[in-house]
Amino acid sequence: MIYDFCVVGGGIVGLATAMTLLQRRPGASLILLEKESSLGRHQTGHNSGVIHAGIYYTPGSLKAELCRRGSQATKDFCAEHGIPLEVCGKHLIATNAVEVERMDALYARSIKNNVAVERIDAQELQRREPNIRGLGALFLAATGIVDYKLICETMGRVVRSAGGTIQLGVEVTEIREASGEVVIAARNRRWTAKQLIACAGLQSDRVAQMAGLKINYRVVPFRGEYYQLPPDKNDMFRSLIYPIPDPELPFLGIHLTRMINGSVTVGPNAVLGFAREGYPKFSFSVEDMRDYLTFPGFWKVITKNRKSGLAEMANSLWKRGYLKQCQKYCPSLTLEDLGPYEAGIRAQAVMRDGTLVHDFLFVETDRTLHVCNAPSPAATSALPIGEMIAEKCIGAQSGSDQRDTGR
Ligand SMILES: Cc1cc2nc3c(=O)[nH]c(=O)nc-3n(C[C@H](O)[C@H](O)[C@H](O)COP(=O)(O)OP(=O)(O)OC[C@H]3O[C@@H](n4cnc5c(N)ncnc54)[C@H](O)[C@@H]3O)c2cc1C
Repeated sequence: MIYDFCVVGGGIVGLATAMTLLQRRPGASLILLEKESSLGRHQTGHNSGVIHAGIYYTPGSLKAELCRRGSQATKDFCAEHGIPLEVCGKHLIATNAVEVERMDALYARSIKNNVAVERIDAQELQRREPNIRGLGALFLAATGIVDYKLICETMGRVVRSAGGTIQLGVEVTEIREASGEVVIAARNRRWTAKQLIACAGLQSDRVAQMAGLKINYRVVPFRGEYYQLPPDKNDMFRSLIYPIPDPELPFLGIHLTRMINGSVTVGPNAVLGFAREGYPKFSFSVEDMRDYLTFPGFWKVITKNRKSGLAEMANSLWKRGYLKQCQKYCPSLTLEDLGPYEAGIRAQAVMRDGTLVHDFLFVETDRTLHVCNAPSPAATSALPIGEMIAEKCIGAQSGSDQRDTGR
């Protein structure tokens, strides 16, 4: 059998893509291959669970556009499928003069990005969030919280009920693109498809290379380590509490996140990982480390961000340093409040010249499309990412069908 579409990766991006392909082309044959025994096991299942409003991103970037659309699409999807969701809003807290200046710039950016934002002063902040201190804050009312793993399971059901096949426990090890088809292999099994869409997250560079692509980036794993507050502190905040980010390193900054199950997490930080899929602290993989240590772009990134990298590493090893970052805006937190919680690992694409790729990155060939970089907020943006990919693939397929039939 020749499938119309083969999707590699059962994270939220692969699932949203599979779901949209079947909505846009009812009756198409589709197979999704996932190497783990359940869906959403990697980045999607280890994130903060935030539906971002899309304030941070460069106006006009793919990230800004897809996040804004994704925020509403995710809420609509949850409403349609009865998935619990809470739109609790988010406060971004400025704690010093530099951050006040950055807050003003961020306010201007949110207007450009079409995201509703409110600027409040210290008194109003304290009235709304009595446990938080700051010189002022931005409030994003549209930010919400959800369980992305639950979204993945629901998307999986939608894919199956639309006639798609999902095979778990299948690690794709070989991809061969020929003129009329793509052959995908895993151990002694193989599948043939007219088109392949690879949404392999932390393995995106390896899957792209497997398909014969000459890529000029590597995935570098960055751990995002969390703590969890004790249950008696679950009601300490009404909204999500974030610091004002450094525009140069927007993914840094520990936040206090209410989770949809009622608990509160603290984090994540961003420290260099020694394994792409090793979640316990000090996990390491020789292969994963060799891949980035032998890549020139990695050394350029490390040299350029030496100071912040070392600070993140120190705070990862020294809990008191981690706590200090939160006490800037929540002085009453103590060391005893920081209980253990599982880390997540970000797939960060780094270019050969040492550029950290902040935007989404896609690479296409005649019969394959690779999602090479889908960093935060790709969970929020997954539905419009899926739509964009589906449009490209369906367009490409009708073009090649017409060529094949000589029209
Ligand atoms: C710590 C952290 C916090 C975050 N917080 C948020 C947040 O609050 N809000 C938000 O919007 N985003 C957040 N993100 C980002 C978001 O989680 C990711 O951008 C998103 O989940 C990426 O989805 P994905 O499907 O591309 O990747 P993944 O979820 O990593 O899925 C990729 C899948 O491909 C599979 N795969 C890989 N190779 C193969 C192969 N050879 N064969 C078969 N299967 C394969 C993997 O097993 C995996 O299941 C966060 C990320 C992290 C790490």
